[in-house]
Amino acid sequence: LFIAFEGGDGAGKSTQATLLTQALQDAGRTVVRTREPGGTPVGEKLRALVLEHGHGEIDPRTEALIFAASRAAHVQQVIRPALERGDVVVCDRYIDSSVAYQGAGRALGTDPVRHVNEWATEGLVPDVTVLLDVDPESGRTRRTASAGAEDRLESEPDEFHGSIRAAFLALAEASPERYLVLDARAPVAELADQILARIGALLP
Ligand code: C5P
Repeated sequence: LFIAFEGGDGAGKSTQATLLTQALQDAGRTVVRTREPGGTPVGEKLRALVLEHGHGEIDPRTEALIFAASRAAHVQQVIRPALERGDVVVCDRYIDSSVAYQGAGRALGTDPVRHVNEWATEGLVPDVTVLLDVDPESGRTRRTASAGAEDRLESEPDEFHGSIRAAFLALAEASPERYLVLDARAPVAELADQILARIGALLP
């Protein structure tokens, strides 16, 4: 089972991915918890490259291709092997983040970015995508408060984060059966319960 967490910066994806991983492990499942950009040695270097140089130095197309390259390595080296072993994969960000950030946020167009990533991943799609929907204002408050905030591209205006949010919601609306959309402002424990209920129902 392949589960992806998506949402804007400050949505609480990492917290929920950790709680879900813990709950599944407590239930005796083998879980591979991973993240993008990153997830492999090459992927972590690509992540560092993008975060270090920032948008001033990396043009949007290059950025989109770096994320896609990181994802291709991740799928081949980590995600597919784990799924083939029968493990549960919990991934913090996947293709939707590229469609939202580079496609909408950086205005490359959502379709081309989706196509590049379908190619990069040989069409691997999550069984469930948990979208933690966050409005730009609460996202801003939460990411400033969170540890590791310096690792984030958070200096963008609310408008940028608003276009990303809209792109995530449009993806969820296009394939409702595959998405669990939750209001990221809800209490952490409540969100965790809803996520576990949805995922638990899919496990044999
Ligand atoms: O997942 P995390 O929030 O740690 O991502 C690191 C940074 O990379 C974030 O600032 C996020 O906005 C950015 N990002 C991006 N495009 C992606 C994925 C992440 O700009 N496709």
